[in-house]
Amino acid sequence: LYESELNNNITLSDVFISVKTTKHYQYTRLPIILKTWFQLAKQQIWFFTDTDNRQHQNQTNGHMVNTNCSASHQRKHLCCKMSVEYDRFLESGKKWFCHFDDDNYVNVPRLVSVLQTYNHKEDWYLGRTSVYEPVKIFKKPTNKLMFSFWFATGGAGFCISRSLALKMLPVASGGRFISICEGIRLPDDVSVGFIIEHLMKKNLTLVPEFHSHLEQMKLLPPETFRDQISFSYSKIKEEWNVVNVPGFDTRYDPTRFLSLHCFLFPHFKFCPR
Ligand code: UDP
Ligand code: MN
Repeated sequence: LYESELNNNITLSDVFISVKTTKHYQYTRLPIILKTWFQLAKQQIWFFTDTDNRQHQNQTNGHMVNTNCSASHQRKHLCCKMSVEYDRFLESGKKWFCHFDDDNYVNVPRLVSVLQTYNHKEDWYLGRTSVYEPVKIFKKPTNKLMFSFWFATGGAGFCISRSLALKMLPVASGGRFISICEGIRLPDDVSVGFIIEHLMKKNLTLVPEFHSHLEQMKLLPPETFRDQISFSYSKIKEEWNVVNVPGFDTRYDPTRFLSLHCFLFPHFKFCPR
């Protein structure tokens, strides 16, 4: 055995990080990411969008991918993006595929340190569930339970090892992922769960350090921020669901991501000192 085969000490360069975004959020959500956590993984992060923007292409050194999927929140079009994300990961040759939404903040060093505790040559599907019971599929018209499965919420982020991603190739590559989504009529993240848990017979491993805005962000204690992998935010009517972190004024930083970034990385240029 070569030493490299024994050594599981992956680094950031072994990770492919995809961020699903859209032209609707290119001037609201994207700039926050570009200013903060993108700076810590410029070579690893790829944005999957539905438009062309020369300025953003320059700012990311060509890491904006126009998927040519429609700019809509419909299942088919979100599945279209996930399909392109997965195909680009396969091409990249990286050891881990990690997907996030554009309302996530990713604590890049923590993501890497958690991935180091799993072997990319084994089959791993890491993430967080947002529901308390598995998805159940019933047979029509008798309504007999056919099967059930868990899935990792896309809005919290999830990671798939290369070994597992390669096993999914016959059913998911080259746009076949879109057919699966359409076939079972479920969203992109649920369809990933269907493929991995039901078709591949591999279980989701719960990693509670992933977080989506389906949780109450303010319940995360600041002394644990360094241990978390991802954070999120949302605004429902006039209520913001955001991380409770000291820092910038809420008018300047309503999502709290600039403040969170300075909490974690106070040496950054835009952080107060
Ligand atoms: N999104 C998209 N196209 C759309 C709307 C949303 O690609 O037309 C993406 C968005 O950029 C984000 C994800 O889908 O990464 C989830 O969108 P959002 O946070 O608006 O909705 P949620 O599903 O969290 O309620
Ligand atoms: Mn969201």
